[in-house]
Amino acid sequence: MKVLVVGGAGYIGSHCVRQLQAAGHQPVVLDNLVFGHRQAVAEDVPFYDCDLGDSSAVGQILEKESIELVMHFAAFAYVGESVTDPRKYYNNNFVATLRLLEAMLDHGVHKFVFSSTCATYGEPATLPLTETMSQAPINPYGQTKLDVENCLKTFAQAYGMSFAAFRYFNASGAAEDGTIGEDHKPETHLIPLVIDAATGRRENIKIFGTDYPTPDGTCLRDYVHVDDLSRAHIAVFEKLEEPGAAYFYNLGTGRPSSVREIIHAVEAVTGLSVPVIEADRRPGDPPALYADSSKACSELGWEIQYMDVQDIIATAWNWHKKHPEGYLS
Ligand code: UDP
Repeated sequence: MKVLVVGGAGYIGSHCVRQLQAAGHQPVVLDNLVFGHRQAVAEDVPFYDCDLGDSSAVGQILEKESIELVMHFAAFAYVGESVTDPRKYYNNNFVATLRLLEAMLDHGVHKFVFSSTCATYGEPATLPLTETMSQAPINPYGQTKLDVENCLKTFAQAYGMSFAAFRYFNASGAAEDGTIGEDHKPETHLIPLVIDAATGRRENIKIFGTDYPTPDGTCLRDYVHVDDLSRAHIAVFEKLEEPGAAYFYNLGTGRPSSVREIIHAVEAVTGLSVPVIEADRRPGDPPALYADSSKACSELGWEIQYMDVQDIIATAWNWHKKHPEGYLS
């Protein structure tokens, strides 16, 4: 399958490109390199430095490359910023996505795989989260993702577009060989920050809240390996053969880890000690979020290879040792 990977130079997108190649597909990358890294995409993969909202340029690429399916990873994803600057999020995550979908419809490309998020659920009433639970996002980031999900439902009905939306939990880790990995600037995610605190690149790690109603008082999250996520995106291809197909899947391991457990796991993997500061809660953090991913497992045959968070952290550590400053480009 000839696949356009929008945001293919970003963290999850670049891992998906690798998995596509490994599975015998032909990825083509489109990325405006605002957050993506040119170095994260192999030289033999066609690369277009282009904005996803530029319908006419995207249309030309769809034609020229005979694209059959589009995967879309290119979103802004800083929750706090989405609260202070929501127009940026509506413009990029919703309006530009709509332009991308229009280019697809205009050029007869009807298969779409969308990166959604567990942030579309808001604060869950019960756990683990299943796909049918109510979606009530508590920030504009989650809202823009839910808006795209809803738009896709109507496009499937009206235009026969077929799509799968994957609701990720906490994407983490890096390629097993350590050649590509997580490099956000600024970095806000727990695992890379704890690794930086272990190596001394940061003075310490602040635990955001130690008085949550959880076993050790810190938040529980579901950390899922980026290559496990990527494999689900490919496993869904067959289902998208049917016009108008609309699928939603949670992707997480279902085994939550607390912030303290992550810190201890990083210490175990690296052999280094992590200086910790207990800080106030971060606004908008639910105490616990973890997935019931049995739907993806049973319908897609999705097999989680990294069940143990220590194994996930080992891959992040391997990437970090090989690229202590992250990507060069
Ligand atoms: N966290 C923390 N200190 C940090 C960064 C994150 O205690 O410096 C906590 C955060 O409050 C949350 C968990 O780690 O409970 C995971 O946060 P992250 O930002 O990685 O992902 P999120 O779950 O917010 O998408």
